[in-house]
Amino acid sequence: MRAIVAHAAKDLRVEERPVPALQAGEIAVRIRFGGICGSDLHYYNHGGFGVVRLKEPMILGHEISGVVEALGPGCEQRKVGDRVAVNPSVPCNRCRYCLEGRQNHCLDMRFYGSAMRFPHVQGAFRETLVCLEAQAHRAPDNVSLEEAAMAEPLSVALHAVRRAGPLTGKRVLVSGSGPIGALSALAARRAGAAEIVVTDIADGALAFAERIGVDRAVNVSRDAAAMEPYKADKGYFDVLFEASGAEAALRLGFDVLRPGGVIVQLGLGGEMTLPVNFITAKELELRGTFRFHEEFALALEFMGRGLIDVKPLISAQAPFTEARDAFELAGDRSRSMKVQLAF
Ligand code: ZN
Repeated sequence: MRAIVAHAAKDLRVEERPVPALQAGEIAVRIRFGGICGSDLHYYNHGGFGVVRLKEPMILGHEISGVVEALGPGCEQRKVGDRVAVNPSVPCNRCRYCLEGRQNHCLDMRFYGSAMRFPHVQGAFRETLVCLEAQAHRAPDNVSLEEAAMAEPLSVALHAVRRAGPLTGKRVLVSGSGPIGALSALAARRAGAAEIVVTDIADGALAFAERIGVDRAVNVSRDAAAMEPYKADKGYFDVLFEASGAEAALRLGFDVLRPGGVIVQLGLGGEMTLPVNFITAKELELRGTFRFHEEFALALEFMGRGLIDVKPLISAQAPFTEARDAFELAGDRSRSMKVQLAF
């Protein structure tokens, strides 16, 4: 089979890889669609992010869907021909956090296409993926495989919304109108948010936010004054989903959040200098959110029941053999939201 392998920054190759033999509890999935994520782009553009660097060639990809092709011994849940989304998260289910039901904090996590550990965990941009049967969730009949490949980023957004707490009637600000920000806006709306404002510094990205029905999209680079009224009377918004990782976005959040407001930090921002006295004096709550666990099944269920529509966010598809062009397109925020590879 062929796979998409990152060797270093801007060195992406389509290479032959052997298909491993099926062990007990494993299935083979013929991959059909793979969404290019921000972390894939970091490996492609920079060879990693922060302290996480490529130290050996690594197959990218963790937003995948496909069709079950073969079953290993002992598999009873899936059938050959099942249309599935594959959960790229493989927790050990034995460590203290797994046993607490917090698998996203597993001490021995294996997450597809991640260079956080060495040897790296190889990813899923490949023609045939061998995975645990339990990772493969059947896509509802009315959910296309393109949509099913959005289950992973939607899971991240659903987990972030869970971290925010009750959103009914709340005024929500989302900074960063990339796929995770846009999906967070969709998930916040589903959770009852009364008003949703999305900010970004790129008009192209904000156009997608408008398409999914947010109340207002603001380009804070071109029109910073638009945010000024939200600073009156100690702030306007109840919750900020910070999906940009930009220091300026978090600082703006300190100004426009009401006292007692909640910041859910999705973006990986690295090191920042921040006026922490705002957290003190406005009694703000700064909450991290990291990946997901049970939300993966929920994401498919929400799509299947028509409660969240991710289709407007899929901006392009390209054959996986043209991966380099697809990665360049995915990195162009003036044109792209979610770019998917077709296998
Ligand atoms: Zn664990």
